[in-house]
Amino acid sequence: MLFKTLSDYYEKLSKTQSRIEMVNILSEMFKQAAKGEISKLIYMTQGQLAPNFIGIEFGVADKIMEEAIMIATGYNKEEVESEYHKQGDLGEATENLIKSSKLARMSSKKYDVSDVYGSMYKIATISGKGSKEIKIRMLAELIAASDPIEAKYIVKYPLNSLRLGVGDETILEALSLMSTSERSNKSILDRSYNICSDLGEIGEIVLEGGIEAAKNMKVSLFKPIRPALAERLPTASEILNKMGGKCAVEQKYDGFRCQVHKDGNKVKLYSRRLEETTSMMPDIVKAVQDSIKAEKVIFEGEALAYNESTEEFLPFQETIQRKRKYGINEKIKELPLHLMAFDIMYLEGEDLLNKPYETRRELLEKAITGSDVISPSTRIITDSPKEFEEFFENSVENGLEGIVAKDLRSHYIAGARKFSWIKMKRSYRGELSDTLDLVIIGYYRGKGSRAELQFGGLLCAVYNKKRDMFETITKLGTGFTEDQMRKLQELLTKIKVDSKPARVDSLIEPDFWVYPKYVVTVKADEITESPMHTCGRSMQPDGTEAGYALRFPRLVGEEAIRADKSPEDATDTSEVIEMFSQQKKVSLSNK
Ligand code: ATP
Repeated sequence: MLFKTLSDYYEKLSKTQSRIEMVNILSEMFKQAAKGEISKLIYMTQGQLAPNFIGIEFGVADKIMEEAIMIATGYNKEEVESEYHKQGDLGEATENLIKSSKLARMSSKKYDVSDVYGSMYKIATISGKGSKEIKIRMLAELIAASDPIEAKYIVKYPLNSLRLGVGDETILEALSLMSTSERSNKSILDRSYNICSDLGEIGEIVLEGGIEAAKNMKVSLFKPIRPALAERLPTASEILNKMGGKCAVEQKYDGFRCQVHKDGNKVKLYSRRLEETTSMMPDIVKAVQDSIKAEKVIFEGEALAYNESTEEFLPFQETIQRKRKYGINEKIKELPLHLMAFDIMYLEGEDLLNKPYETRRELLEKAITGSDVISPSTRIITDSPKEFEEFFENSVENGLEGIVAKDLRSHYIAGARKFSWIKMKRSYRGELSDTLDLVIIGYYRGKGSRAELQFGGLLCAVYNKKRDMFETITKLGTGFTEDQMRKLQELLTKIKVDSKPARVDSLIEPDFWVYPKYVVTVKADEITESPMHTCGRSMQPDGTEAGYALRFPRLVGEEAIRADKSPEDATDTSEVIEMFSQQKKVSLSNK
């Protein structure tokens, strides 16, 4: 496919306000792709070069791009910067500069998608002396051979500013439509995605062998599995009821989720977002290499800082200090990590996802014996609400967050939040005090005392995975420090968009729309029904429509933004509905 064709599709994508239309455009685009090309198209459309777990970054800063634009267009620094200032985006600036340039284009070479991808890959991976100059030259060559629209996307792609609004679910639905003319076969692809986390690979498999080939995909080493997630319930009896009267109850540790892949001496670790975190935890890597007997294994647990003298786990605020690129070796001594393992998904060539929890637990315990640093999560198996409650109270007294109950019969349900795992935290008692992770979709101009900061608050949404849409749940105006407001204002101005993005469902119009990118953690007193918000909106018995909203929402946490969560990791609409019904039960039982 010519890069020109791809940029025309990108123009269509960025102009549509309908998600259905977006899927149609993508599916049509994928149909044009050749073998070996569709994976590149998918990564490019997501603004990446490879799946997240490979972790390749472009390493192209605005300054490098500006120099490339100057060489390719003949404009000087002031002209490029002034247009950038006007447009707020270098890609749009380049499009305008080329359109109004009187210079003849330097080259008429027609690049195809693989050429552009190949150059970008080289640009991202080249390092060492002189690499900056090579990057500038390669970018300039691409821009010089492009028409204004192509140039816009050449510039936007490595600067992470494509903002096409395409999410993982959107791509899976488009692949289903491409391959079977049906959107609904996406559910087959969901499973494949949950076990390989690589949309490009799925694209290639579907293109070559159709949807049937995707059905046969198996778990493999060094392709992280999308994590199983937990539902929430507030009492031991409700959890036991839901799980058929008996279940395992494990301590819930508050650290970093860590998926370990081991093949002989080769070990890699992945986070909850499936980014590689191997270099952050050399102590865990060494413990796996030294003490895990299994040759080929994938297992997971929670890594958290541990005080060896008092044998106590440290709070998350301490563990988070290990999240650093430099000075790791000093921090290892100060804050050694302990890995509390809670599941195993693959062992010596066998995919264990469809084995029941109890079988997996036995295999896990055998596989990890003999290490001081890695141990199985502490747990009980019980059918007694009293024993369950005591275990919970005991865990909380020991400084832990609560418990995660596990259905003894259940498979490992990758990439989904299901009742086979149910969490219970101390905070669930009484009022709604569990936090919600919300996506910022818009913001307001500052008025009165906030006028100087130009920041008046946020419009926030939950993610509805079933609809693949962001649905509004609250405006958020309190809980910010001045620093946080400044930071948010700075970050949000950069992702402003002219109109409501296609995957946003909102009845409210904020002063500025932003591209759904950042997640904030919010606490509220209550979930209420509201005609204003689209979260879980449905028809009421009186014929009106209502959704859910938050009462007295406020921002929590020192960092304004949750860097470890992507928009699709935000609280899901179904969780809000569940929390609302729990809250109703609690308030009834308190009457
Ligand atoms: P939270 O903020 O409550 O940790 P989350 O959205 O990150 O929520 P959930 O699936 O809702 O994830 O809750 C389970 C999380 O708890 C897992 O992601 C994992 O990191 C952590 N965890 C700690 N101990 C356990 C355990 N024994 N079993 C499963 N998960 C555990």
